[in-house]
Amino acid sequence: MQSFNPPVRTLMGSGPSDVHPRILSAMAKPTIGHLDPIFIAMMDEIKEGLKTIFKTDNKLTMPISAPGSAGMEACFTNLVEPNDKVIICINGVFGMRMKENVTRLGGKAIIVKDNWGEAISTDKLEHALKNNPNANIVAFVHAETSTGAQSDVKTLCKLAHQYDCITIVDAVTSLGGTELYVDEWEIDAIYSGTQKCLSAMPGISLISFGKRAIQKLNTRKTSVNSWFLDLNLIMNYWNGDSKRTYHHTAPVNMLYGLHESLVMILEEGIENSWVRHKKNHELLKNGLEAMNINFLVNKKDRLPQLNSVLIPKGFDDEKIRSILLNDYNLEISAGLGAYTGKIWRIGLMGYSSRKENIVLCLSALKEILRK
Ligand SMILES: *Cc1c(COP(=O)(O)O)cnc(C)c1O
Repeated sequence: MQSFNPPVRTLMGSGPSDVHPRILSAMAKPTIGHLDPIFIAMMDEIKEGLKTIFKTDNKLTMPISAPGSAGMEACFTNLVEPNDKVIICINGVFGMRMKENVTRLGGKAIIVKDNWGEAISTDKLEHALKNNPNANIVAFVHAETSTGAQSDVKTLCKLAHQYDCITIVDAVTSLGGTELYVDEWEIDAIYSGTQKCLSAMPGISLISFGKRAIQKLNTRKTSVNSWFLDLNLIMNYWNGDSKRTYHHTAPVNMLYGLHESLVMILEEGIENSWVRHKKNHELLKNGLEAMNINFLVNKKDRLPQLNSVLIPKGFDDEKIRSILLNDYNLEISAGLGAYTGKIWRIGLMGYSSRKENIVLCLSALKEILRK
């Protein structure tokens, strides 16, 4: 074996996005013990930083030592009990994974189907709530990375509460890239990740639980079906006020990376980060439209950080993506499901959301399509 030397790529796909050099160097700092008081002080700063960017006062706001998907499992595993009725609005791949979580936990999933590429319909959710008076949870994805559509979290949460349901919201791609207010929008449980709009490495998820979610957790009749993700245990590690109990060994250096990414986003200002993502989306959009490349999602529901565009007729999806990767060191993502071969997903997330990346992507596409 020899040392591994990855090429330097520009990551403009569905994730991971480019990791900022400051975050890479933060992760190269010396490893210290995960119960070292200096490390614990850093854990506290991470929690405070997360509360600021989630726009919440939720005390139970913390990272989980595993990727975004583990944040999803943490929410469902802690909140869904056997026979719970969970309404899941599905408008893409990640909603389907929510269903998988619920059924594996013995819950009953009630599916509200929306078209891929569109926002979740509040009318359809209301219909499902009316028809299922004993449902107790509503779950949906804020920013569907598989299609590039965003949904109206505030209205969906309000509706769910009118029918006495708590809400679980996937914000893996939305956090940092588009407006998100956990407290103001009354989101009960939310999860996100580090590898999309936070400019950090893949491998950590972020969760926040509000009052209603904690009450649901505290009144469970059955114990949480996972030892590793049982928040009652993890809380003693992340929250144990004076004395922390060993739960697992935190990924120390990755948390240095998360800490630095929070420092950076707070320096920029979370609102400014949203504005940067929006402005760069406009730049990319203008360039693509000038080349007659059009968007899948209607203007109102488009995500600035994930641009799904229709592949021009007569062009080979895989061939073009491989030229981009091999000749330009540029990664964009393929379509999924019914959109395989039909769309490209161009990410402008976190540190990838920069003017020079847009110029590279547009000029590379122009050159390839011309040939
Ligand atoms: C990327 C993503 C996930 C999963 O995150 P991983 O870090 O890949 O586990 C979940 N939901 C959405 C919407 C995502 O975009």
